[in-house]
Amino acid sequence: PTTIIEAAGSDALACLSRVFGYDAFRGDQEEIIEHVVAGGDALVLMPTGGGKSLCYQIPALVRPGVGVVVSPLIALMQDQVDALRALGVRAGFLNSTQDFDERRTVEAEFLAGELDLLYLAPERLRVDATLRLLERGKISLFAIDEAHCVAQWGHDFRPDYLALSALHERWPDVPRIALTATATDATRTEIATRLNLREARHFVASFDRPNIQYRIEPKNDPKKQLLELLRTEHAGDAGVVYCLSRKGVEDTAAFLAQHGVEALPYHAGLDAGTRAANQSRFLREDGVVMVATIAFGMGIDKPDVRFVAHLDLPKSVEGYYQETGRAGRDGLPSTAWLAYGLQDVVQQRKMIDGSEGDDAHRRRLGTHLDAMLALCETVSCRRVRLLEYFGQPSSACGNCDTCLTPPETWDGTVAAQKFLSAIFRLARERRQKFGAGHIIDILMGKKTAKVIQFDHDALSVFGIGAELSVAEWRGVVRQLLAQGLLAVEGDYGTLVLTDASADVLGSRRQVPLRREPKKPARSSKSAKS
Ligand code: ADP
Ligand code: ZN
Repeated sequence: PTTIIEAAGSDALACLSRVFGYDAFRGDQEEIIEHVVAGGDALVLMPTGGGKSLCYQIPALVRPGVGVVVSPLIALMQDQVDALRALGVRAGFLNSTQDFDERRTVEAEFLAGELDLLYLAPERLRVDATLRLLERGKISLFAIDEAHCVAQWGHDFRPDYLALSALHERWPDVPRIALTATATDATRTEIATRLNLREARHFVASFDRPNIQYRIEPKNDPKKQLLELLRTEHAGDAGVVYCLSRKGVEDTAAFLAQHGVEALPYHAGLDAGTRAANQSRFLREDGVVMVATIAFGMGIDKPDVRFVAHLDLPKSVEGYYQETGRAGRDGLPSTAWLAYGLQDVVQQRKMIDGSEGDDAHRRRLGTHLDAMLALCETVSCRRVRLLEYFGQPSSACGNCDTCLTPPETWDGTVAAQKFLSAIFRLARERRQKFGAGHIIDILMGKKTAKVIQFDHDALSVFGIGAELSVAEWRGVVRQLLAQGLLAVEGDYGTLVLTDASADVLGSRRQVPLRREPKKPARSSKSAKS
């Protein structure tokens, strides 16, 4: 403990280098730390990987007493505490995974002043015994991690987080620092109000990652599209490929390996030994491509990840930002590439419909998906849309596909009307539900077995859409879904009209659409040459 006591006596920078081995602060870290060390409250909004932990760990070491960290991530506490202990920091935690003896030991350390940091699950602070325990020790600060939990309706931890507002009354002189990676103004205001942090200084970091080039393209033959990307722009580079399913992970890893790419699978269905081995090869060797479900990435800190590719649509913009954010931590040019198609939208709607939880929960998932779709279908700068989502206005970046190769738009009103009227006609056949493929066949005038079986060649809409290709029609459907002019229902991906569809059918609303690109957008490197 001697090193810690020395560090505690000196300033924040000395602590940074002596305890954590870093030689400079990042972004707002120094200002935040000084503010909290001086006893001020703070509200910190910083993207994942931005370095939030040091913002409370260093003040906890510098100020006398124990820093109490409230975190809902119980599964990570043991690791966090182990990592701190390895650095010589006296850390402990109290949560429901411990038995009585383990808890007693940590409590005794706390009371004896033998801890620098104490991690607590939020529900602990609703237990009187915990509050009495804390009152018997000396507290240097309260850190409230994942503070957005207080703002999310129906969130699992919300009641526990709401109760945290009482900390201020019990410990009026102990500084509090709330931290989150969510930057919307609404969330920020709600955190400040609910946690009684009205006097807190706000530190809002930029969410921009200028070295990441964002690209989103329609999905045709995703594995081949990915291989093309790796061969032309990322040969020999380390990267992460995200797939939705374990099977997708297995297939893609095998496909890449067959084509000479150093690719390894990672998902929760693999045994722990394989997972650990693959992860360690990814971290230690050069140029390994990790093909993974989103189970992979939490706490992974590899600076030279040159690309993150998504073969399936992420469920939310937050998820997309977090996953793509694993590229280019070293600040060098990196690619965030996503292939997405109509099938993604249908599949995700189905998953939402079939998900557990109440209607409010499903609506929230739907809102998240809609925001992600809007990002995919935007005809303006991806980065502007992304930062706007996090509450940060900006201007066109010049380093995303829509900036580099501005998409052409066309007036899709008539095409939309054709498609929507086909659905309107089919909706009269109440017993039968039809998906996008069948409706496109009808519009294109294809006499498939199914078309003949249902006499759909007799419909007035049969063959009225032959001017577009299948790919173009799928693009139309995808964009109608993204614009809320069409919805998916039920287990079979049945397409149904929405309230807004009527405006299109009644010619009261224009439908501008993005033209399907003939060739994929290229990086600035190849665009310039
Ligand atoms: P967050 O909680 O915001 O997601 P972390 O606190 O986990 O981010 O920090 C992300 C990574 O950056 C960690 O590996 C951390 O050690 C490292 N880091 C944080 N601050 C610095 C710094 N000033 N210099 C170097 N590395 C840092
Ligand atoms: Zn841009």
